[in-house]
Amino acid sequence: MGDAAGRQLAEVASNYSNLEFDLARGGRGKRDVIAGRLLETILDCPRALVVNNNAAAVFLILNSLAEGGEVLISRGEMIEIGDSFRVPDILRKSGARLKEVGTTNKTHLEDYRQGFTDRTRLVLRVHPSNFRISGFTSKPSLEELSALCASRSVPLVEDLGSGCLIDLEAERIEPEPHPRESLSRGADLVCFSGDKLLGGSQAGIIAGSSSYLQRIRHNPLFRALRVDKLALSVLESTLIAYLTRREELEIPVVRMIRMEAGLLKERADSLVARLSGLRTDLALETVEGASVIGGGSTPSQSLPTRLLRLRSSRHSAARLEALLRQSDPPVLARLDREAVLLDLRTVFPHDDARLIEILSGIE
Ligand SMILES: *Cc1c(COP(=O)(O)O)cnc(C)c1O
Repeated sequence: MGDAAGRQLAEVASNYSNLEFDLARGGRGKRDVIAGRLLETILDCPRALVVNNNAAAVFLILNSLAEGGEVLISRGEMIEIGDSFRVPDILRKSGARLKEVGTTNKTHLEDYRQGFTDRTRLVLRVHPSNFRISGFTSKPSLEELSALCASRSVPLVEDLGSGCLIDLEAERIEPEPHPRESLSRGADLVCFSGDKLLGGSQAGIIAGSSSYLQRIRHNPLFRALRVDKLALSVLESTLIAYLTRREELEIPVVRMIRMEAGLLKERADSLVARLSGLRTDLALETVEGASVIGGGSTPSQSLPTRLLRLRSSRHSAARLEALLRQSDPPVLARLDREAVLLDLRTVFPHDDARLIEILSGIE
């Protein structure tokens, strides 16, 4: 998290907090009103809620709006995210019944139309997140699907996964759908994570229609899935950074994504120059490479970077990688056949000196 979020967090953690006290009225307040208002402004939507994480958000939406009924979902979107978050499993646990439509690579509007019955309670669209199907593929636009859902009075919900609020075009990364855009194109509700590309704390955000969010807020499970004040504080500071257009200054993940390859090259060159004199047993050079964003948030796409490539005359690359991993603080490197690679994109510039100390101290 950024410095401002860190300072605010320390303040909230060790001082008084009006988490559930409304200072203006002098009565009981709700814990997530501030984050909610910030989100409503940023996403230009009637209402937003914050829960424990996006898995909780998906579960709560399905349980509140579709328990006992059917949920339509395209066969191409029946995904597993990792650590056993599987859309069909969450759906079953929510008490809703899954109804698959279409095929793995192609789902047409007609498939959704034919999937509707009088038991249909919700249509779920899921961002494929960590994989891509390419080639002979198609799916209806959000506008088309929204018109169909509206004609049946059934909510259209989009699970956006990463919740990217910045434009990735300058970085030549395929644009991630912005939650505001999904809502304006016809989704009744969207949900996304607070700690993936958004760069805040672990949280799940649900935004969109007031009437659906009212039902979700009144679900007794809301309390079981709510966020604590420390996570809310970080999320609030992060959202303020977006609102005041300071995201590139304040939010580390945004700063790392936007860090220019030229600057990374300068830092890598300077590290090589400074280390070469200290360690004659290390062969050091910088090489062209690629950075992958957010543990697979943007699959098959990457940012150009300049890597520091290390080989030791005394240790194998695997041993060197292990020694770095076991140093204090641990340094996580990549292994590339005979060499160890370091990507300075995810090293804070103020840690370069420390990295030199660790590298020069390897036994
Ligand atoms: C990551 C992800 C989730 C789970 O989000 P958490 O905040 O990690 O719980 C759910 N759906 C999609 C599409 C995701 O990418």
